Amino acid sequence: MARRMFVAGNWKMHGTRADVGQITAISIDCETLKQTDVALCVPSTLITRAVAAAPGFTIGAQDVHHESKGAFTGSVSAEMVRDAGAKLTIVGHSERREGLGETNEDVRAKAELAINMGMRVILCVGESLKVRETGQALRHVEEQLKASLPDMVTAPLHLSIAYEPIWAIGTGKVAEVGDIAAMHNRIRNALEQTYGEGHSSIRILYGGSVKGSNAREIFTTEGVDGALVGGASLTAEDFMPIVEAAE
Ligand code: PGA
Repeated sequence: MARRMFVAGNWKMHGTRADVGQITAISIDCETLKQTDVALCVPSTLITRAVAAAPGFTIGAQDVHHESKGAFTGSVSAEMVRDAGAKLTIVGHSERREGLGETNEDVRAKAELAINMGMRVILCVGESLKVRETGQALRHVEEQLKASLPDMVTAPLHLSIAYEPIWAIGTGKVAEVGDIAAMHNRIRNALEQTYGEGHSSIRILYGGSVKGSNAREIFTTEGVDGALVGGASLTAEDFMPIVEAAE
């Protein structure tokens, strides 16, 4: 099945009102795209402003809580970010799995809640340098993925997977294209085992130091349907060359 390319930006803990102009600029530059879907996942505080500043463009959240509501000071729920205007959310980013101890079960619950809210989900997986060096990366990511996937027949219609080797995030290091292809193939097989034929609509993105200068090589790698971009998604100047490489 031919899948459209998908490039999503992840602003992480960056961005205030002063930066909303970049979202408008990116959305305008994306208006003429033919084969590429684009989204920006902004801090929760910017979702409403971003939606207002870029009508018709897809704004996403970066996380939602694994419970639908309750006494969770400081957290936001899927319902809340959707209410603010987010059409999708990232779940399972390594900065939350590693830094905040989120488990595969948490990630699965987050994905299921978001899908139940009618949102799309970018579910992240990836191995640490230690796991890569011990030759366990493929097995580790497959296990992590299978334990994190939403247990819903309709999930494939709403889901993208982002393969992000932890050692490549924000470091300037990019995985070898052969390793990316092998991992995306392994992920594709795991999706097929889980969802059967439905897997074919799920896009598998690569993430980790994607830039304008390396995007084309990554996008022509077998099994790569787009990218999740951190640092290089903060300005139209850095982000648009990546989007154009996908188009
Ligand atoms: P990076 O981040 O592009 O800055 O490496 C990617 C990510 O963490 O999603």
